[in-house]
Amino acid sequence: MSFSRRLPVYILADCSESMAGTGIDEINRGISTLVAEMRKNPMAMETVCISLISFSRVARQVVPLTDVLSFEPPKLSVRPGTAIGAAIVLLLKCMQKEVVKSSPTVRGDFKPLVFLFTDGQPTDDWQSAVNAFRQANNPKIANLYAIGCGPDVDTSVLRQISDIVLNMSTMDSDAWKRVFVWLSASVSSASVKLGSGNDKSPIDMPSLPDGLDFVSPNAEVRPEGGQRQVFLQAICRKNRRPYLMRFARQGRGGTYTAICSHPLENLEDGDSDALPPVNSSMLDGVPECPHCHNQIAAVCPCGAIFCDSPTNDSPVVCPKCSAELSFGGNGNFDIQRSQG
Ligand SMILES: [Zn+2]
Ligand SMILES: [Zn+2]
Repeated sequence: MSFSRRLPVYILADCSESMAGTGIDEINRGISTLVAEMRKNPMAMETVCISLISFSRVARQVVPLTDVLSFEPPKLSVRPGTAIGAAIVLLLKCMQKEVVKSSPTVRGDFKPLVFLFTDGQPTDDWQSAVNAFRQANNPKIANLYAIGCGPDVDTSVLRQISDIVLNMSTMDSDAWKRVFVWLSASVSSASVKLGSGNDKSPIDMPSLPDGLDFVSPNAEVRPEGGQRQVFLQAICRKNRRPYLMRFARQGRGGTYTAICSHPLENLEDGDSDALPPVNSSMLDGVPECPHCHNQIAAVCPCGAIFCDSPTNDSPVVCPKCSAELSFGGNGNFDIQRSQG
């Protein structure tokens, strides 16, 4: 028996703004769990290779296909946008480059397992990417599990990518842990089955954990009445670091209430340009700055939103464009919203 055939596992992780906080922390932890579990299973250690693709405004292959002993879990961070289309295109490209195809003289790798996690609706041209994927995936080139996280996912989009669409109803820390335990067990059992030479029958997945359910084609969810959450990008006046303000819609009314804020890292040019505008009259309250705990926010004519203190008596200087500003009872302002 030869162990030279690999089982490629691609994880596509949504790193859009709505994943800030618990979501991104648990995906980071979950990937470490997966790698640690694979290292405990001799067959998985021989066969499983893992690649990580993240997507927000753009998609990136954060880790190329790597065996589990060499795989070092990276720390993913959040950026605006949900480019599912770009992630699918990148997945195809990576599989084409990395997965060894069978030929009369070479026994290629096993069919890759792909786990796509997303908690929002695509913000890019996903339809042409999905069409390209469907074309490439006929006959099947991968076993893809599309996992919608939370209530804002349009599962009809996921259905066009995969026959297997799952939904995570809650997204607390325990739910995420259960999902990654399940994912690890799935990869582990697939590696044992395939590695022992049984690659003809379909892979049996372990039964789904609490909080993770199949979405039947007849029960597709398309969130109604617009986004349940709105995010604004702001800058701390004290340390000039970016953060996200999270607002959630209350009931069916049109306003969004301030919930919390999350520090952001590694923002790039273009990240904030990806956001469509929203009028601040839709928003109720301001979450405090996660860097300096300033309680309010101000807007510069340059478009920057930044944290401010109500007791501030020195001149206000915009942390983005350095303009000196004077404020006096201004009304509503148009600010940037992100829909990821
Ligand atoms: Zn601040
Ligand atoms: Zn400014």
